[in-house]
Amino acid sequence: MKTLFLNPPSFDRFDSAGARFAATRKTRSLWYPAWLGYAAALVPNSQLIDSPATNTTLDHLLKIIKKFDLIVIYTSTPSINNDLQVAQSLKKTHPQAKIVFTGPHVSVLDKQTLKSSPAIMAVARQEFDYTILELSQKKPLSKIKGLTYRKGSQIIRNPNRPPVHNLDKLGFVSKVYQRDLPINRYHLPFCLHPYLAIYAGRGCPARCIFCLWPQTFTGRIYRKRSVKNVIKEINWIKKNLPQIKEIFFDDDTFTINQSWVKEFCQAIKPLHITWSVNARANLPYNLLKTMKDAGCRYLIVGYESGNQQILKTMQKGVTLEQMKKFTHHAHQAGLMTHGDFILGLPGETKQTINQTLKFAKSLDCDTIQVSIATAFPGTELYSLCQKKGYLTKPASVDKKGYQLPTISYPKLSSKDIYHAVENFHYKFYFRPRYILKTFKTALKSPAEAKRILLSSLEYFKYLITSK
Ligand code: SF4
Repeated sequence: MKTLFLNPPSFDRFDSAGARFAATRKTRSLWYPAWLGYAAALVPNSQLIDSPATNTTLDHLLKIIKKFDLIVIYTSTPSINNDLQVAQSLKKTHPQAKIVFTGPHVSVLDKQTLKSSPAIMAVARQEFDYTILELSQKKPLSKIKGLTYRKGSQIIRNPNRPPVHNLDKLGFVSKVYQRDLPINRYHLPFCLHPYLAIYAGRGCPARCIFCLWPQTFTGRIYRKRSVKNVIKEINWIKKNLPQIKEIFFDDDTFTINQSWVKEFCQAIKPLHITWSVNARANLPYNLLKTMKDAGCRYLIVGYESGNQQILKTMQKGVTLEQMKKFTHHAHQAGLMTHGDFILGLPGETKQTINQTLKFAKSLDCDTIQVSIATAFPGTELYSLCQKKGYLTKPASVDKKGYQLPTISYPKLSSKDIYHAVENFHYKFYFRPRYILKTFKTALKSPAEAKRILLSSLEYFKYLITSK
C-alpha cells in the first residue's frame, strides 16, 4: 500500500509531531516529526509530509491525496478537533483511503476517537512503527497488535504491542528527513542551525506524574540503540548532510544509562561532531566533562520547580540540592544548559512561583523554557486533577495555537498561572547579568550569535503581536 505519513495542517507554525507539548511557540522552534519519520523509514515506498514545516495546506493535500492508500496522521490533545476535520476532508475526497490516527492522545482515547468520526479506520496505539508496517503489508486487522479498529458497528481493541526492543532494526530517520523534509526550516532555540534530531533510545524509567510520553506512548522501560548503530548513522549524516551544525539526541533522557554514555563518548569523540541531549540533573562531574570533551554542547534539563514539596508530589526523583550541584558541575565542565520549568503543578502558590524564579536565576541556565502545567489524558497528573476538581478542560491552545492553562486551584487561578509564565520569562531574560552573559556567548562564534539573534527576534515578535 502506498503510505503517507502526515503531520496535518493546523495553526500557523504549529509545533506538534515531534514535540512533547503540541503548540505554537513564542521562540523560534520547530521539532522534527520524528515518530512519523521512524515509521516512514521502516515502510517501503512511503512519503512523509510535515505540513507546518512545508506550509502544506488542506487544499494542496486534497489535490494529491488520491496517490495514497494508507494515510497515517499524527495527532495531539490540543489539535485533535482539527485533526478530525482534516481526516474528514481527506476521506470525503478519497473515500477508499484508509486513515489511521497515531500519537499519545489517541493511544489513550482510542475508542472514543474512533466513535467520534467514521472517517478514521483505526488507531495505532503507542509506538506504531511495526503496526503501520503490518497494515501497509495488508496483514489482517485482527492479527495486528497495538491496533484499535472499526469492524461494522463494532470497535475492536487488539492486544497491546510490546515496545520496540531492538531499536537497531529501525531505519535511519535522517535518511527520511533528507528525502522528504526541508531541513533548514527546523529550529530549536538552543541548537545551532541547521540541526538534526534523532533518538538513541526510547522510554524513561523515571516516574514524573506530569510527563506525557513515558505514561502514554513509549513506556517506562528505557531501550537503547547500540553505540555502533548510532555512530553509523552519524557517519551517514556527516557524509550526506554536511550542512548540519548540531545533532540533538531527543531521547526522553539520554543519560539514564551512564556506562552507555561513556562508551558513546569514546566512539563519537574522534568524529568531531557537535551534539546535545536531554539530561537528568543527577550526573557526576566526571561524566559531564567526558561528554563535553566528546563534543557535547548543550544539556536540556527538566528542573520543573524550585519548590522541594512540588518536586516530591510530582515524583521527580531529583532534589533541589542535586539540581544545583549538577548545574554548577555542567557549567564548570563547559556545557551550556537549557532549563525547563513548569508553573501551576499541584501545590503551586504565588510564593512557590517566586521560589522557582529565584531558583532559575540562581542556576544561571543559558536558556529556559517555562510551560503552563498541563494534565494530559492518561497521565497520573490528569487523574489527580480530575479527582480533586482542578481540571478546567484537557490540554488546550488559543486561536493561534499558543498554550492555554487548563488547571485551576482554589487559591491560584488558571489566569494567575498564565500571567505568571509570561512574567517569569520576562524577569529571567531581561536582567543585566543575563544580557551580559548572552553577549559573551554570542561573541564565541558566528553560529552562536546567529542562534541568539534569531531566537530573540522571534520572542520580540511574539511580545509585539500578542499585545
Ligand atoms: S525524567 Fe524527564 S522524560 Fe523521564 S519521566 Fe521525568 S520528565 Fe519525563
